[in-house]
Amino acid sequence: MKCVNCNANFSGREGAKFCSTKCRVAFHRNGEVLEEEPILEEDPVLEEIAEDDGEYRGSVTNKTLKEMGPDDLYLEIGKYMHDTWAESQEYAELMTRLKTMSYEELQKGGYHIPNWKRPFKK
Ligand SMILES: [Zn+2]
Repeated sequence: MKCVNCNANFSGREGAKFCSTKCRVAFHRNGEVLEEEPILEEDPVLEEIAEDDGEYRGSVTNKTLKEMGPDDLYLEIGKYMHDTWAESQEYAELMTRLKTMSYEELQKGGYHIPNWKRPFKK
């Protein structure tokens, strides 16, 4: 069979489309999404690539961190087990936005605005 991504001949399980996980990820990253070949969060190759270029694509949103809206970020943060969300890159991104964006921008964007960000009321 032929790899959909690099056209290399390979032998794999029936119905396989890619010669390697690397090719599968590369193909997905080019914007094509095949329903039957989901990218798993625990995919080691994906994690490797995510570290390489600073881009992160979650299994559900398939967006980079910067492309993620507040709802995406809340969703991803909600997936972390126990207290590990506090160290997640999604939480870090959310905090950066809360700190750098104005109250009005956050309000428009649909963020949960923390008390410390609210304009001072007399
Ligand atoms: Zn390939």
